[in-house]
Amino acid sequence: AKSEGRGTYRFFEAKMGAQVRERRLLEHDLRHAVARGEMHLVYQPQTDVRNGSVTGFEVLLRWLHPERGAISPAVFIPIAEESGVILQIGEWVLREACREAATWTNPLTVAVNVSAVQIHAPHFVQLVHESLFRTGLKPDRLEVEITETALIRDPSRAQSTLRQLKALGVRIAMDDFGTGYSSVSNLRAYPFDKIKIDGSFIRSVDANEQTAAIVRSVLGLGRGLGLPVLAEGVETDAELRFLAAEDCQAAQGYLMGRPAAIEQFARFTHGNQLK
Ligand code: C2E
Ligand code: CA
Ligand code: CA
Ligand code: CA
Repeated sequence: AKSEGRGTYRFFEAKMGAQVRERRLLEHDLRHAVARGEMHLVYQPQTDVRNGSVTGFEVLLRWLHPERGAISPAVFIPIAEESGVILQIGEWVLREACREAATWTNPLTVAVNVSAVQIHAPHFVQLVHESLFRTGLKPDRLEVEITETALIRDPSRAQSTLRQLKALGVRIAMDDFGTGYSSVSNLRAYPFDKIKIDGSFIRSVDANEQTAAIVRSVLGLGRGLGLPVLAEGVETDAELRFLAAEDCQAAQGYLMGRPAAIEQFARFTHGNQLK
């Protein structure tokens, strides 16, 4: 039994070592990914629930690794955050997104995900200001998506950053509402313009009475606070019907459109077709 235990230990040690090495390799490759042209952006439509029109797009980052192929942001974003590389990558995402949106003939919004490290970085507001100024994008067409978890590192600093962004005219959405360190008081403490309900609540909204009750209460909260609510991860007609019946303003999900290259959405960004 003793030798067996040691073997198990060695197995774990080897496995841990491999994971650490894997992480270091990815971290190293991440540092060069933007410069090597391995990153690109995809766009997912956000729609008005009442009439189905496209009101804007969320920008989602994609990494095509030369040897490993596509790596999910769920894997590389946490590594980029812990290593600080997210600052460099995030700067690129913001500039690219503003540059792209400024070329659209229709004044749709562009929503960019911003992580905790970026929010707390000293020149973040200046970076946003520069991105808008250089591209000529009107500030009210840019929305930053921030999770509540991103605010807790230094709440007063985060608050000041969000206020400065607001002063620029940029809009602020609370991302993944209902997950993590979610707290209703955050809706009062920070100047949010929109609530995004996490997709995990939408998935069973038409089948599960508890989930439906939670979604209804978030919609009520939004109404009471005068904040529009966007439901994420909408995949079925039944989910969309539920949201329409409950007066949810906005929706996003595979049902309305999967994230794709912006060229796929030219009829919305440039055409006279908004549905
Ligand atoms: P998120 O901000 O909550 O983005 C929504 C995620 O749900 C995206 O995953 C999107 O592709 C996926 N999704 C959209 N509609 C549906 C649906 O109907 N069903 C399902 N099952 N999923 C749907 P993705 O693109 O893999 O991104 C994962 C996360 O990575 C994002 O979650 C965000 O936290 C982070 N991320 C992505 N791009 C960026 C970025 O540029 N900067 C930062 N800081 N984080 C990013
Ligand atoms: Ca988001
Ligand atoms: Ca989200
Ligand atoms: Ca999420």
